[in-house]
Amino acid sequence: LGSAARLYTEEDPLVILSSGSLKSAVTNSSSAWLIQFFSSWCGHCIQYSSTWKALAQDVLSPSAGPVSAPLCKEEQEEHCQSYKMTSSRSLITVINCVFVCVYTHSGADRSIPSVRQLMVNILQNHTKLDRPEHCPPLEPYSSAQLLPLLGQRSDHYTAIIVEEPDSYVGREVILDLLQYSGVQMKRVLSSDRPLLDTLKITTFPSIYLLHPNGTHGHLHSEKLLRFFFSSLLRTLPGVQRWSKVLPDNQNTEPWRDFDRSKVYTADLESALHYLLRVELATHNTLEGEELKIFKDLVTLVAKLYPGGGSVVKLMETLSDWLLSMPLQRIPYQAVLDLVDNKMRISGVFLGAELRWVGCQGSREGLRGYPCSLWTLFHVLTVQHDANPTALENTGLEGEAVPVLQVMRRYIRMFFGCQECGRHFEQAAAASMDTAQNREQQILWLWQQHNRVNMRLAGSLSDDPLFPKAPWPSPSLCASCHEEKNGVHVWNQDNVLRFLRHHYSASNLSPKYSV
Ligand code: FAD
Repeated sequence: LGSAARLYTEEDPLVILSSGSLKSAVTNSSSAWLIQFFSSWCGHCIQYSSTWKALAQDVLSPSAGPVSAPLCKEEQEEHCQSYKMTSSRSLITVINCVFVCVYTHSGADRSIPSVRQLMVNILQNHTKLDRPEHCPPLEPYSSAQLLPLLGQRSDHYTAIIVEEPDSYVGREVILDLLQYSGVQMKRVLSSDRPLLDTLKITTFPSIYLLHPNGTHGHLHSEKLLRFFFSSLLRTLPGVQRWSKVLPDNQNTEPWRDFDRSKVYTADLESALHYLLRVELATHNTLEGEELKIFKDLVTLVAKLYPGGGSVVKLMETLSDWLLSMPLQRIPYQAVLDLVDNKMRISGVFLGAELRWVGCQGSREGLRGYPCSLWTLFHVLTVQHDANPTALENTGLEGEAVPVLQVMRRYIRMFFGCQECGRHFEQAAAASMDTAQNREQQILWLWQQHNRVNMRLAGSLSDDPLFPKAPWPSPSLCASCHEEKNGVHVWNQDNVLRFLRHHYSASNLSPKYSV
């Protein structure tokens, strides 16, 4: 799909379809799809591509599976005919094989909220009879239907969104929660007096929550915005993304309670343990560029790892040893011997086992190492910002964003997931040079990590208990989130402030650490 690749890449939060993949992707899919047919040479399509990406991000962000798919029109005569496309500027929604064409014209309102609302209208226009199986009812409920539920026990939450008639928030939140179990969504209009009087609801939009144990009450949200509502509902206890895999390999490790607003040294130590003993072990010898990259990583950790302590001592020893070696080629076994001996003789310690805490998965094979590696590099970007001179005389001091550069080289050379490495390299080649100082270094990594979160939301590696979503969530940082012209936007100053705190030495918890 050469021409499509120019407008859209795999990094974008949308699915790129080709003539062969369109039908199989949408047939029997449990998601609604909004598909754009475009011509890569058409100026209008080129201009529109940034709106399309932003729309995909906006709709995808809190939940959904595949949402939009640019399709290369040049290859698609057959499809365009079968879907009654007459213009390369058309949009078509495909809802479980029910096709609805929507033609957009140059003059039409193409802002993200209006296309989003258009999608809602199309979904809502299905009658009861022709509504696709997976499409939720979007019509408002009445007090007569809802009041009898008060006080009843059930195996799920019921969230009642009360809103004014022209508001789309309720329907958007219902769609955001479409792929989650454990909560049933209903909407009611603010004109329903009996319900408002009984539940004492005076603000719109707002959410009233019926708990599984029969109690009920208002759901407090710091801001009355779609993003906040969806995020709060997704994090209710027991609410989780529908899992695509049966939990056949349950976690055998005991569960370690943890606080999502903290960073755990046990995760950072486990990252280094895995990196040194598992990831590196796939290389029999380290030489040339490999050796240089490994040395730089060890130096970076030795200089920036927060709080001193035995990890820093070990990394300093390893770093001194690597620098003193005249050899151009070091057997991996020698690195391992040094790590083991040093630990045995001097009590310099790096956990002898993997102990995930903030990076625990709900079952084996989820989270763990990649989670801890992100965490480690976020910590290092923040530590570099807090200690600007820490890398002096290391050979890394000349680089504007040394943590990102070392991370990029490490991921490319050593990271066990080659597909991940390829994606990360693409992203780094495309935009890492826009980060030119320590603040931008922190923010670039945050932004890139969120792009990966978006791409992987709903994929097989998404842990249903820890669904991938834009981070930090409103419950971690409410002031990081704003809405502009109906679209969610980040307040980057507050994000930076939050990251500096979250990944700081003072927010590290030693709980469960060796
Ligand atoms: P993770 O995404 O690993 O996040 C770990 C923790 O970091 C979270 O629990 C949260 O506390 C915090 N966090 C989340 N988002 C942010 C943010 N934006 N900024 C700062 N902190 C944040 N997997 C693939 O399937 N395909 C890929 O292409 C891919 N690329 C990867 C590239 C890199 C460089 C790395 C390190 C991993 C990659 N992975 C990829 C793995 C994937 O990103 C996850 O790490 C893995 O699926 C585990 O996810 P998780 O739920 O534990 O959260």
